Amino acid sequence: MQTRDLTAFAAETGVKYFMISYTDLFGGQRAKLVPAQAIAGMQADGAGFAGFATWLDLTPAHPDMLAVPDAAAVIQLPWKPEVAWVPADCVMAGEAVEQAPRNVLRRLVAEAAAEGLRVKTGVEAEFFLLTPEGDAISDAYDTAEKPCYDQQAVMRRYDVIAEICDYMLALGWGAYQNDHEDANGQFEMNWDYADALVTADRHSFFKFMVKSVAEKHGLRATFMPKPIEGLTGNGCHTHISVWDAEAKVNAFADPAKELGLSDAGRHFLGGIMKHAGALAAITNPTVNSYKRINAPRTVSGATWAPNSVTWTGNNRTHMVRVPGAGRFELRLPDGAANPYLLQAVIIAAGLSGLRSEADPGPRHDIDMYAEGHSVTDAPKLPLNLLDAIRAYDADGALKALMGKGFSASYMKLKLQEWGSYTAHFSDWERANTLDV
Ligand code: ADP
Ligand code: MG
Ligand code: MG
Ligand code: MG
Ligand code: MG
Repeated sequence: MQTRDLTAFAAETGVKYFMISYTDLFGGQRAKLVPAQAIAGMQADGAGFAGFATWLDLTPAHPDMLAVPDAAAVIQLPWKPEVAWVPADCVMAGEAVEQAPRNVLRRLVAEAAAEGLRVKTGVEAEFFLLTPEGDAISDAYDTAEKPCYDQQAVMRRYDVIAEICDYMLALGWGAYQNDHEDANGQFEMNWDYADALVTADRHSFFKFMVKSVAEKHGLRATFMPKPIEGLTGNGCHTHISVWDAEAKVNAFADPAKELGLSDAGRHFLGGIMKHAGALAAITNPTVNSYKRINAPRTVSGATWAPNSVTWTGNNRTHMVRVPGAGRFELRLPDGAANPYLLQAVIIAAGLSGLRSEADPGPRHDIDMYAEGHSVTDAPKLPLNLLDAIRAYDADGALKALMGKGFSASYMKLKLQEWGSYTAHFSDWERANTLDV
């Protein structure tokens, strides 16, 4: 693709500031606001950052990190058109910063491309609309036991939802539906699948946009995996298909095969199944993530989240669902997943499966919530973040595919986070231990 000149873009669109943005290992979006008058130099050389000041496992002694904008991915903020967001790639001393999430994804996209493959994905980034303090659902009337698709409740938030959907339509993302989800205060907005890097950029921008528009309306949006005990959590289901280099032929589609999934699709799925426990360290990256999976039944009747490594046809009680020919849905990821690492780890596990012709094992066409105990041949998902990090550490193949440097940095920071969590004294301990 021809490189877009950001100075000309500013002149055409009236953009006054560029937000040069990169995503760190904890999913935080970090940016510098650069006036259009200074963007030419930054487009060439990047904007300077002290990497240590963000979650990238760098030291204060490292040289400046430069965030080089990917001009092809620039997006003018629909709610603030004088500003444009542009995702950036991190460079230090002339080299790509290996552990920077967008670089990790770029590398895996390139690995797939080298094998003539183009991974296309769509994400369902669920969120809650809360009060500005974040401690309660913002709509006092949103109290139904089964609130999914609640017509009255979604209309009470029409101003927020329609504003965001209008923006997605204007951006050409192919937005196609919005609904009230299965928890009180929870919503989902869907747009079309695209190449994994495009989806990752849109997913990042979507989170930024939802939070920004919610704030504008005096609300607080959260993608936290399980913000409210007893209610369904925020998933980030990811739908996956793999195409040829021209994106003309869906390599996952074969009407002659089981559920319309080709041999390539089966092997890719086999890789996801094989690496599931390790991959959870990335798709479910926080302490709170493990309160969404492995959770007791929610008030609505079902968590809609998996607890075992199983797959099936069109049945939402499993980790993987094949909703129709030529794609599958990974239901494991949650709202805390880093948009770039989420895509990267799916490609890594899938490539591993393709290369080893992995078998996903037998399908279990049962209601996992009611009959899951009858399944004895499927591993359980990690019960907490530490188990997931350990599973990741034990998975040499996945670590190598994600990059040794990335994997070491990620595990180091996540173990620190786990340490910080366990060092915290909780009310539960006092309630259960005071009288021992
Ligand atoms: P559901 O709630 O039934 O799981 P949604 O409609 O909410 O499904 O989301 C489906 C997602 O899957 C969308 O982002 C959609 O564009 C995407 N999708 C559909 N077909 C494919 C495909 N062949 N490859 C990848 N993603 C796909
Ligand atoms: Mg300074
Ligand atoms: Mg959905
Ligand atoms: Mg949903
Ligand atoms: Mg889904």
